[in-house]
Order: sequence, then structure tokens, then C-alpha cells
Amino acid sequence: MRRRSVDRRRPRVRPLSDAAPTRVGGWGHDDLARASLLREACLMESIDCVVVGAGVVGIAAARALAQAGREVLVLEAAEAIGTGTSSRNSEVIHAGIYYPRDSLMARLCVAGRRRLYAFCATHGVEARACGKLIVATDAAEAERLAGIQARAEANGVEDMRMLTAAEAKAMEPALACVAALHSPRTGIVDSHGYMLALRAEAEAAGATFVFHSRVEHGQATDQGVTIEAAGVTLGCRTVVNAAGLHAPALARHIAGMPGARVPQEYWAKGSYFSLPGRAPFSRLIYPVPVPGGLGVHLTIDLGGQARFGPDVEWVDTIDYDVDPARADRFYAAIRRYWPGLADGALQPGYAGIRPKIVPPGAPAQDFVIQGPAEHGVKGLVNLFGIESPGLTAAIAIADLVVEAAR
Ligand SMILES: Cc1cc2nc3c(=O)[nH]c(=O)nc-3n(C[C@H](O)[C@H](O)[C@H](O)COP(=O)(O)OP(=O)(O)OC[C@H]3O[C@@H](n4cnc5c(N)ncnc54)[C@H](O)[C@@H]3O)c2cc1C
Repeated sequence: MRRRSVDRRRPRVRPLSDAAPTRVGGWGHDDLARASLLREACLMESIDCVVVGAGVVGIAAARALAQAGREVLVLEAAEAIGTGTSSRNSEVIHAGIYYPRDSLMARLCVAGRRRLYAFCATHGVEARACGKLIVATDAAEAERLAGIQARAEANGVEDMRMLTAAEAKAMEPALACVAALHSPRTGIVDSHGYMLALRAEAEAAGATFVFHSRVEHGQATDQGVTIEAAGVTLGCRTVVNAAGLHAPALARHIAGMPGARVPQEYWAKGSYFSLPGRAPFSRLIYPVPVPGGLGVHLTIDLGGQARFGPDVEWVDTIDYDVDPARADRFYAAIRRYWPGLADGALQPGYAGIRPKIVPPGAPAQDFVIQGPAEHGVKGLVNLFGIESPGLTAAIAIADLVVEAAR
């Protein structure tokens, strides 16, 4: 817990036991004093609730817990919020189209999407319902659009509409397709602005964020979970494990957590290639999904820049470099719906890594939100496999965390 990362306000801490709390004095005037007081407070007292990880889901959970009256400390290994998967994604506000009916992904995507749009509208965060076209480029793909529409509607996605090729082309003149499905509720968001606004509300409700503080391991106790972070031992009534790619590893390092309840992690890297200049489309363009993936699709950011991807590459290490050679596989896939793509137009962009909990080739996973009712460890809430649509669903996921942490 280094000096510049400690928040300005004193964390509110209280003892877990009935014994009188050790009184921690008021804050000094410089950060070093605050850091040392935080350390002292942590050593002497217990914390009501620790959220591990300040990605979008951890931040949203901290906000919801703090607004529910819980005392919240967020411990983040990196130097700032949202440096992991939360800043390495497509920034798409998913409508909730593809997920199996009644799955957590379906329910939380639809609920989270509605809440996200409302939050952005009232908190000055840029978000735009630009819409998305799922495009069929042959008769076999066209036949599958009706099934996609039916699933979306079963999930509660509003206003899905089938388009003829002419209707689709009228909306997006550069497009080649034989039919398309229009999802007007799909959109894009400034993910960093979103996280900043969520963090501000979490802090306004009393949550404290501390950076450079990796939670190394923990121990289940009768009163909750004791954790070790940056050389400090903290007794916590509740620990929310929102460590993203590292959530299964962290759970395995909590003594008392049943190993059989911790899924094996698998990492699926997704690389993006960007297109210099103005985007040729004003909506997001997705091919009909293939088994195991959404296909090479086009997303645009709020500045109008187009990017294609992410592809899928199973990896064992975290390495965000984009191999330019991977572009070769993009051209043919993109030209099926955008023949106008020029040779050499794609530039390496960035990459993110999906926190999978199923191996390659396995059926798609659902989010796993595990509380004491599922694993038996008092006070521990684990979040596993929070891949897409985790950005969209974050506020709705946070509501379930509050329930599981009661
Ligand atoms: C390529 C790609 C594209 C995506 N596109 C979309 C999209 O368009 N729309 C959408 O809705 N979703 C999308 N997602 C999913 C979305 O990005 C994630 O679901 C979401 O960002 C997960 O947030 P998180 O807070 O769970 O994890 P993270 O953002 O990974 O945060 C976890 C945090 O925990 C910290 N941490 C880890 N271990 C420890 C520890 N031991 N102690 C302390 N801190 C620790 C990390 O440093 C990190 O900051 C995409 C994901 C990927 C990979």
C-alpha cells in the first residue's frame, strides 16, 4: 500500500468481534501519514467488506455494497482502476441476444444494459445506442437469423427486427449481405468514463480504494475470511473475489475454500485490428455467429474509429502484444460482409484476455457468482468466468454480490 495510492478519506473500519475497537487517531496531513494509519488500522481492526480487484465488476460491487450501508475497502494489485480486462474489450453495450434463456448472462446482460444506459444518461458518461446488424452472407446463414431473433426475444431484448438485403443496405451502403437482423438497443460506451463514475459513487458512499495491494492469500474463519495483502493481515466479514483472470487462483489460495468448487481457469486472448480513418459503417456489424465465437465483427468507438475482432487464441500467459500476422485471417472473413476492405488496411490494435472457465471446444460457460450457500465459506463471494458481457452486466452483477454477501 504505497503512499500515493491511498485515498484522502479515512477508511471506516470496525471490529468483527464484540471486543471494543482499538481507536485509530485522526488522519495526518500528508499521504505518508495516511498510508501508515491505514496500515495501522488494518493491523489493529477488522474490515467489514473487502473487494479484491478494481475492474468494472469490482468497482460496481464496491458501489452497491457501500450504498447498501456496508463498509468497503477495495484492494487492487495494479496502480489504478480498470487496467485489466475492463480496459481491453470492445466497449459494446450488449443487448443480450445470444445467451441461453434464463442463464445469468442473459438475465444480467439485459438488466445491466438497461441500468447502464440509465446510469450513463444521469452521470455524464458517454454512451450511444448505435445499434447492431447481424448479417447473413448466404442462404444457410439467413436461415439461422430467425433462431437468433427468437432467442433474443425470449431473453427480453426489445425491438429486434429482420431486414431484407435492400433494407440493410439502405442503412449501411457499404454492406454486402442477403439478410440481416437489426438490434437497435446494442450500443457503445466510454468504459473508462463509466468506471470513473462508478468509482466516484462508491467513494461518495464511503468506499475506499487502495492500489498496489495484491491480495496474496486468505484463510476462512468462523467470522469471515482473513486475507493477506501487501504485508497486512485483514480480518473481513465479507471478501468479494473480483480478481478477473486471477479469481480462480485467488480462491485456491484461500484456506478452507473447497477446491472442488473452484473452476479451472483457461485464458482466451482476443486481438483487435483497427482501421485508420473514418469507419465505413455507423452501426456495429456482426456476422452470424459460428460455434464457439461471434465471428470477426466490426465495432466502432465513440470517436468513430472502426476496429475488427477480437479473434480467439488460447494462451497460458498474459501478453497483450498483437501479432500482425494474425491479420491474414481477418481479411477473408471481413470481406464476406464488407468487400470494400482494401489490402493492407488493417493495423494491429490491442488485445484482451477472456477469463474462461471452460476449455477450448466446450459448450459456452455462464457467469459463476458463488456465495456461502454454494461453497460453504462464510463471508466469501467468488466471481468466476466474468467474460463478455461483463462490462454491460456489471451493475446487475453487483446486485447479486450484495445479496450473496448478506
Ligand atoms: C476481448 C474482450 C472483449 C470484450 N468485450 C466486451 C464488450 O464489448 N462488452 C461487454 O459487456 N463485455 C466485454 N468483455 C468482457 C468485459 O471486459 C469483462 O467482463 C469485464 O471487464 C470484467 O471485469 P472484472 O472487473 O471482472 O475483471 P478485470 O477488469 O480483469 O479486473 C480484475 C482486477 O483484479 C485485479 N486483481 C487480480 N488479482 C488480484 C489480487 N490478487 N489482488 C488484488 N487485485 C487483483 C486486477 O489487477 C484487475 O484490475 C470483453 C472481454 C474481452 C477479453
